[in-house]
Amino acid sequence: MIVLGIETSCDETAAAVVTDAREIRADVVLSQLDDHTPYGGVVPEIAARAHLEHLDGLIRRAMDEAGIGFGDLDAVAATGGPGLIGGVIVGVMTAKAIAAARGLPFIAVNHLEGHALTARLTDDVAFPYLLLLVSGGHCQLLAVEGVGRYRRLGTTIDDAVGEAFDKTAKLLGLGYPGGPLVEKAAARAANPARFELPRPMLGRPGCDFSFSGLKTAVRRHVEELGGVLSEADRDDLAAAFQSTVAEVLADRCARAIRRFREDHPQGGALVVAGGVAANKAIRSRLSTLAEKQRMQFVAPPLRLCTDNAAMIAWAGIERFRLGESDPLNFAPRPRWPLDPTAAPVIGRAG
Ligand code: ATP
Ligand code: MG
Ligand code: FE
Repeated sequence: MIVLGIETSCDETAAAVVTDAREIRADVVLSQLDDHTPYGGVVPEIAARAHLEHLDGLIRRAMDEAGIGFGDLDAVAATGGPGLIGGVIVGVMTAKAIAAARGLPFIAVNHLEGHALTARLTDDVAFPYLLLLVSGGHCQLLAVEGVGRYRRLGTTIDDAVGEAFDKTAKLLGLGYPGGPLVEKAAARAANPARFELPRPMLGRPGCDFSFSGLKTAVRRHVEELGGVLSEADRDDLAAAFQSTVAEVLADRCARAIRRFREDHPQGGALVVAGGVAANKAIRSRLSTLAEKQRMQFVAPPLRLCTDNAAMIAWAGIERFRLGESDPLNFAPRPRWPLDPTAAPVIGRAG
């Protein structure tokens, strides 16, 4: 089985060709970074237009790299949400057009399910597993019980963790996107223990997260330093922020492991996914936790942590293998929680 995947939910335009034998035949990603950098964040209208301009060419490239024609495909999968609606419409309409023209099944993939199932594309991971989903828009702990079967154990009550990285980077004058730049600055820190930051939610019951206080604490330090940071100040603050986030994530995971084991005494892996999973300090902290708990630990290769279309093609394959596909009148879903039974958190998308 061979599937074309399309991703256009944020500021990466991506196309990939993946087989059910877990072979990534092509995986092309075009970052719109330069288009959005002047604005310090993603501008939805610019993103949608850029997807429209580049998607056809990227699909052509992916098909060429895979060495196949549209006639060789078994299905077409595209991100159907959640995300910026303009971009999602571009990807969904393109996938529907190919499906209609070629008489192929169309599969609308939940972008978060793409992140959630990536570990099964790259590693031998069986259901159930415990997933820490850490991305630009989300910070959740989920029991993954099967394809389309997610139980949310915890979520952020304010900022997503990627968002916290991006806002902290801005405060430190590091630019956008923040995650990789904060990680680089932290690696240069001469005195990573110089600043003490609050550890939000640490030791509290439950598996929820909070990051806005941490960002405020960074701002206070910046103000105390007179608003002008030396390179050393900036790097030490970045290191403090990163290690605090890693510690908080590990604390929440430790609690979630206990909850997860109550329902699944036979156990399962600890999996991390989403853009923030590319962070090496966080990966290493979680890997230590998993080792202590005698759990298999899976973190996808870095390029499959941030947005890509291979994960969308793969999630499409996982659903298609179960006989699922979507009608051509599928309507894009700007909000699409993985666990629809979980209570919404005020002001957050779920
Ligand atoms: P979502 O998946 O929730 O819809 P998104 O698709 O925008 O959001 P991703 O592409 O999965 O998010 O992740 C992007 C986020 O990951 C950004 O906030 C970015 O700063 C963060 N990120 C990327 N690399 C790193 C890194 N090395 N360390 C920390 N954060 C990182
Ligand atoms: Mg992005
Ligand atoms: Fe994402």
